[in-house]
Amino acid sequence: MIVSIRRMGEPCLLEKSVAVTSSEFNSIELLNLIDNLSDTQHHFGGVGIAAPQIGINKRIFIIEYYQKDITRYSNTGDCPRKIIINPEILSVSNEQISFNEGCLSLPGLRGTVNRSVKISYQYFDQFGNLYRGEDDGFFARVFQHEYDHLDGMLYPMRMNDLRSLSYVDADK
Ligand code: ZN
Repeated sequence: MIVSIRRMGEPCLLEKSVAVTSSEFNSIELLNLIDNLSDTQHHFGGVGIAAPQIGINKRIFIIEYYQKDITRYSNTGDCPRKIIINPEILSVSNEQISFNEGCLSLPGLRGTVNRSVKISYQYFDQFGNLYRGEDDGFFARVFQHEYDHLDGMLYPMRMNDLRSLSYVDADK
C-alpha cells in the first residue's frame, strides 16, 4: 500500500527510532510495514526510504536502485531491493567525499553533504538473517543517508555550507 511521505518539520523525522525486536521478525505486521515502505518508494521514486519517513519510528530502511533509472549520478551500479533492519555502521573511512543529495522528505531540494567514502556495516533482513559487508560506492552513501533517518537526522543537518541547498529546478 502506498502511504504518504512525511516531510521535514514533522516530529517523526527528528526522533531516534527503536530497534525491531526478535519477536517482530517474520511477523505479518513487519512484512506489511515493509510492503508499504517498498510500495511507497516505488511510487515516489528515490533510491532509499526509511520507516520514519512514513511515520513509523522503527530501525528499518530499504535501498533499491538501478542505474538505468538514475540520470543524476553515473556509476551507481544496480542494487536489487535490500531490506535493512537494525543496521549498524561498524567502521567508516576517514576519507570523505562530497555529494549532492536529495531526500523524499525534502521534495524538490538538493544539497551537498560530506560523508565517508567507505563503510563496513551489518544488518538483519525481515526474517532475522544477519548480513555483513563493506562498500565504497553509491551504496555506502545511501546507507549513511538512510541510517541517519533512524537517528532523527536529515541531510541539511549534515551540511557544512547551506549555500548549496537548492531547488532541483533552479540548478539548470
Ligand atoms: Zn532521506
